[in-house]
Amino acid sequence: NFVSPKIVIIGAGASGLFCAGLLGKQGFDVTIIDNGKKPGRKILMSGGGFCNFTNLNIEPQHYISQNPHFCKSALKRFNQWDFIDLVQRYGIAYHEKELGQLFCDESAKQIVDMLLSECNKGQVKFKMQTELRDVNSTTSGFVLDTDHGTIAADKLIIATGGLSMPKLSTTPIGYQIAQKFSVPVVPVRAGLVPFTLQPELLEHVSTLAGVAVDVEIAVSRKSFRGNILFTHRGLSGPAALQLSNYWQMGDMIKINLLPDIDLLSFFTQQRQQAANQQLKTILAKLLPKRLVDCLIRLAKIEDLPLKQLNHKQQQVVIEQLTNWQFIPNGIEGYRTAEVTLGGVDTHSLSSKTMEVNTVPNLYFIGEVVDVTGWLGGYNFQWAWSSAHACASQITSQ
Ligand code: FAD
Repeated sequence: NFVSPKIVIIGAGASGLFCAGLLGKQGFDVTIIDNGKKPGRKILMSGGGFCNFTNLNIEPQHYISQNPHFCKSALKRFNQWDFIDLVQRYGIAYHEKELGQLFCDESAKQIVDMLLSECNKGQVKFKMQTELRDVNSTTSGFVLDTDHGTIAADKLIIATGGLSMPKLSTTPIGYQIAQKFSVPVVPVRAGLVPFTLQPELLEHVSTLAGVAVDVEIAVSRKSFRGNILFTHRGLSGPAALQLSNYWQMGDMIKINLLPDIDLLSFFTQQRQQAANQQLKTILAKLLPKRLVDCLIRLAKIEDLPLKQLNHKQQQVVIEQLTNWQFIPNGIEGYRTAEVTLGGVDTHSLSSKTMEVNTVPNLYFIGEVVDVTGWLGGYNFQWAWSSAHACASQITSQ
């Protein structure tokens, strides 16, 4: 006679819901506890409401962790195609937007409904609006202290996510439980987050709010190609967000605003064809006019007719446009961040099962773990893959 262990999952987000459905369908007694009103709130907000649920190009090098090998096993054993297969079985229409990013055609709600339907098949029980405050171990398992009393669990899966979007009542409880069980936590910080700029630079750049450009943006040896977006506060847009994951306080960033253009040849050609035109008029053939105005101001170059622009001045302009360098003031923080870098130290977890090496029956999955993906569906894929690794181990016991 199989007596199902009582499994409690903390967090009805991407990883918790997926894990619950997998276990429930195998006949396990699963309860999810979440402090929110509704399950899957971050999923509903994700991808501008269309949920970028995975990426066609999932590769370990698209993840950041102190232990870069950790994610490999889980990502391999439940990959993007496995999740796409589930999405297809539910008849959810999707499309590739760019760079392998897959979005729902209709709504992110379809992904939440799919996960809930899987949970429903597995008779998963939900305790919403219930906040976990503490965990203690007992001889046979765990006792959870919540704001609605205590709950016993034989197996405990922590899927509490990161700290981004505090208005979704995120909590650091996952990190606190790890530390309580002597599992180290890699210091956390906001990731996939806009840059703020030094006041002197912002004064110029804030006039560009709303301007987006396709650039190459780099810090030390990491660079990304894609759009940056100037805002009232600083610099956002996909390529800037990607770079924020690799940026450390005080690092210089470099932007090539014309990565596909040989600007020297362009000037030579324009000198032959349009030598009487003003510098700004010529540059406005390549970049938005507001941006040209700002860059010429920053380069401290006069708006001369091209024929009067000397070689040295031309070099200054080329440098300003193709190698614009500045040190950001900082990053915006969790309020606008998409993810949290750092988290539960992977050296203390099994990469095959997500179980804590020294605490049997305690698991960490999803974003609470020190594995952070690039922008573009990588973080959800980590949620699905790590949830699957955990569920597979429990199922195979
Ligand atoms: P979450 O989905 O965050 O779920 C954690 C759950 O735990 C939450 O419901 C929370 O309320 C609950 N919880 C926390 N503390 C407690 C507690 N003490 N007691 C009870 N419950 C608790 N990634 C992508 O791959 N593609 C995207 O398109 C994308 N878009 C995003 C857009 C936005 C605006 C944001 C903020 C993030 C986006 N992400 C995206 C990142 C992605 O949402 C997360 O990486 C993913 O949701 C992590 O899943 P998770 O299960 O680990 O945590």
